[in-house]
Amino acid sequence: MLSQGRPYLAIPGPSVIPDRVLNAMHRAAPNIYTDELIALTATLVRDLTAVARTEHACAIYIGNGHAAWEAALANVVAHGDKVLVLATGTFAKGWGGMAEGLGAVVETIDFGPAATVDLDVVARTLQADTEKQIKAVLLVHVDTASGVKNDIAALRAVLDAAGHPGLLMVDCIASLACDRFEMDQWGVDVMVAACQKGLMTPPGLGFVFFGPRAAAVRAAMARVSTYWNWDARVNPVNLSKSFNGTAPTHHLFGLRAALDLIAEEGGISAVWARHARIAAAVWAAVDTWGQGGPMRANIADRGLRSCAVTSVTIPGGHAQRLQDWCRDQAGLTLGIGLGQSPESDFFRIGHMGHVNAPMIMGCLGTIEAGMLALGIPHDAGGLSAAARALVAG
Ligand SMILES: *Cc1c(COP(=O)(O)O)cnc(C)c1O
Repeated sequence: MLSQGRPYLAIPGPSVIPDRVLNAMHRAAPNIYTDELIALTATLVRDLTAVARTEHACAIYIGNGHAAWEAALANVVAHGDKVLVLATGTFAKGWGGMAEGLGAVVETIDFGPAATVDLDVVARTLQADTEKQIKAVLLVHVDTASGVKNDIAALRAVLDAAGHPGLLMVDCIASLACDRFEMDQWGVDVMVAACQKGLMTPPGLGFVFFGPRAAAVRAAMARVSTYWNWDARVNPVNLSKSFNGTAPTHHLFGLRAALDLIAEEGGISAVWARHARIAAAVWAAVDTWGQGGPMRANIADRGLRSCAVTSVTIPGGHAQRLQDWCRDQAGLTLGIGLGQSPESDFFRIGHMGHVNAPMIMGCLGTIEAGMLALGIPHDAGGLSAAARALVAG
């Protein structure tokens, strides 16, 4: 009854696509052999590395985040190499599974569905690796299932304190251009991302950023898959070498528009500040509602929550009923529970990318209406707490 109007997809990727991005893609196919696309690709790499806060390289692939996972691994991990996976939800496990598929020997430490990495456990594991056989440490910056944000700089310090040469490889697919991330300052060797979350572009581009230590490991590899090899992509002789075939023409136009939006907002720091404010509104609502009912944020400590996605639980299957009501009655699609048990007790609010104050207040107001409709107990002050969080300095 309330669903006629613009539908709102508040899932943690793909995110809302700005009209500017859609319109930039609405054009005739370009000739892929002329200079226009070569120049365009160079501007994209320049602006992507600025968003990732790195002075180093970025290889672009046609593919989703899973493709970027495989691309990153294929360049630095050989059959039989040992990889340490730090799991804080769902996604690092997926990346580890991909490493296993490439023949790596994977050791996974699972910190559970609602916690960050325990740095002492990692320190002990690295110290126990006296022969320095762990070639790479894999983790996510933000886990999109649990909503946790890991402290990457602290992990770098643990590797350094252990004198461990393993590469620090970080998945920023959910967090890039949402949560503050400093690739060079935090000492990250390899970072993977994709275009359909904070970068606001339809799914189809994966990115692998890498620094000099990773490049040296790559150079020492006996062989690397021709398709995933990042060398040809970052030192292209021509565009068909950059992409190993036809360039993703319209995705490049769309991404150009998205990066222009970021620049016009005031650069990546301004984008982070907006995400922090929007996330504060979400947390204010969720935490206030929970004071009068069963709703809880999956990650209790606000310092460990992501500014891109919030995972919420309402026990007793209420989370599933609330999602159904919001989608069917009101045109708001929330994210499903992922990697939690039972999944019907969880939902997720994606607040990544092209999200402003009326969008997030509309989303939160719809959730509150859903709780009223379904008789889910909650404190009535959630929306005004969210409004106050939007204006709090
Ligand atoms: C979305 C996501 C992925 C998977 O990306 P796809 O594009 O669906 O392959 C991996 N890791 C994280 C942290 C994500 O949020």
